[in-house]
Amino acid sequence: MPTKRADLEIDRKARASIPMQPVSKQDAFERLKNFNEIYFNYEAEIACIEAGRCIQCPDPAPCQLACPLGNDIPTALRLTEQGRFIEAAETFRKTSPMPEICSRVCPQERLCEGSCTHGGGNSGEPVRIGKIEKFVVEYQYAIEGIPIGDIAPDTGKRIAIVGAGPAGLAAAENLRRKGHDITVYDANPFPGGLLIYGIPAFKLSKDRVVTKVKHLEKLGVKFIPNTRIGQDIPLQKLADDFDAVFIGVGANIDAPAKLEGADLKGVYQAGEFLIRANVPRALQPAAFQEADEPLTVGKRVFVIGGGDTAMDCTRTSLRLQQAQGYKLDVTCAYRRTEAEMPGCKAERENAREEGARFEWLTAPKRFIGDEEGRLTGIEFVRMRLGEPDASGRRRPVEIADSEYIEPADTVALALGYWPDPLLGETTPALDTHDWGLITADARTGKTSVANIWAGGDVVTGPDLVTTAIRAGLHAAESIHLYLNEE
Ligand SMILES: Cc1cc2nc3c(=O)[nH]c(=O)nc-3n(C[C@H](O)[C@H](O)[C@H](O)COP(=O)(O)OP(=O)(O)OC[C@H]3O[C@@H](n4cnc5c(N)ncnc54)[C@H](O)[C@@H]3O)c2cc1C
Repeated sequence: MPTKRADLEIDRKARASIPMQPVSKQDAFERLKNFNEIYFNYEAEIACIEAGRCIQCPDPAPCQLACPLGNDIPTALRLTEQGRFIEAAETFRKTSPMPEICSRVCPQERLCEGSCTHGGGNSGEPVRIGKIEKFVVEYQYAIEGIPIGDIAPDTGKRIAIVGAGPAGLAAAENLRRKGHDITVYDANPFPGGLLIYGIPAFKLSKDRVVTKVKHLEKLGVKFIPNTRIGQDIPLQKLADDFDAVFIGVGANIDAPAKLEGADLKGVYQAGEFLIRANVPRALQPAAFQEADEPLTVGKRVFVIGGGDTAMDCTRTSLRLQQAQGYKLDVTCAYRRTEAEMPGCKAERENAREEGARFEWLTAPKRFIGDEEGRLTGIEFVRMRLGEPDASGRRRPVEIADSEYIEPADTVALALGYWPDPLLGETTPALDTHDWGLITADARTGKTSVANIWAGGDVVTGPDLVTTAIRAGLHAAESIHLYLNEE
């Protein structure tokens, strides 16, 4: 396989003229009847054609630069084109411990595919890198499962991982492969973090996460569920008992809506809403398993917010309405316009196909309830866009006297997530900032405590699966170096 792709004798013009090969999805009406992934997989022949659209940009290829994990995408696509699917999957695995997950949930439109030079070709469509990655990894999985790979001889060093989300799982695998003894603690009943307790199954089948966890168990990683560090065991005790600790506890506290009526029945935080609708009851945290009422959405649902979580709540609500026999009536209300929406465009299109409605430039002012404390309506106010704020996006400003009331049975609040301040509050030596984010070196994840590292959403604030994985991998390298120096 040549590495200097500039020297490859390929007809880039001819490749640029091959039309993009779409991936089929479940029909919008049909997919509302289930929570299965909506995208089907490529057929082998079609995957080869699509991979053959890659013009093999010379190093460094823009797609590889845009991938937080630095996946060698051009090589993987060239192998796919040649029908060498397992080698292609292995190329992704060299830099990514979870290609089966990244291929499904990465916002490729703003990462690898967003930087694909092919976008300027005849079809104007980037190569469908994510769907090809999913195809080769699934192909490999069907034939040989997830390969066990190499594990170094035992080093006798013990590492505790706090939080079994993508950051923690990536750190656990990397360090286990280096021969260390790994114990992963998580507050939830099952590992996976937001891969299980956030992202709905119509985007990422829970099976794939379960398979990854079993794979890690086969490698020798130990999981201890239902254990909240900082409450059940002090973090400092782990730091004393283990040679090193990695914290990947995410940022999973729902930002509250400080509005009248936010405590009415029928007003849900996105976190609870998605868990109760998408996670099997036996795997739900105890507090939700004990919920007295089933999650019944009713005739009119509103979702407040404009990010990926809002879209996940919207599409979950549509499926719940379908299952519970209501006419579809779900509206996503956002205080800016579609142009400022931070979520993935493709997911918005999927929501539209499924029947979601959108109301732009509107924000809730209060929630209205009946005498039994149940939501019956929402008072909204119209907004306009003012001057840009610190993020560069134009600030929404209320329009005076533009309030209006909409009847509503359920509202899901997807207003963002905050970190949990618990670890900072209970570990005086651990530096934190901004409501509990852990202060850590951006590259190595080293914190203010000598043998504690941190990475993922708990350091950056809410971000992506792939950036959390990268943080876990970088911290693992730094921990390994530290243990060797010791
Ligand atoms: C609804 C939703 C949809 C999303 N969709 C996408 C998407 O499509 N694509 C994408 O790239 N990203 C998406 N994201 C973001 C992505 O899921 C996160 O950025 C990523 O999961 C962060 O990984 P993490 O390992 O840092 O933390 P998390 O995945 O949040 O995992 C943290 C883990 O730590 C555990 N924990 C917390 N506190 C403690 C404690 N004190 N002791 C022990 N354990 C603890 C938690 O139980 C959890 O299991 C989405 C997020 C949400 C909320």
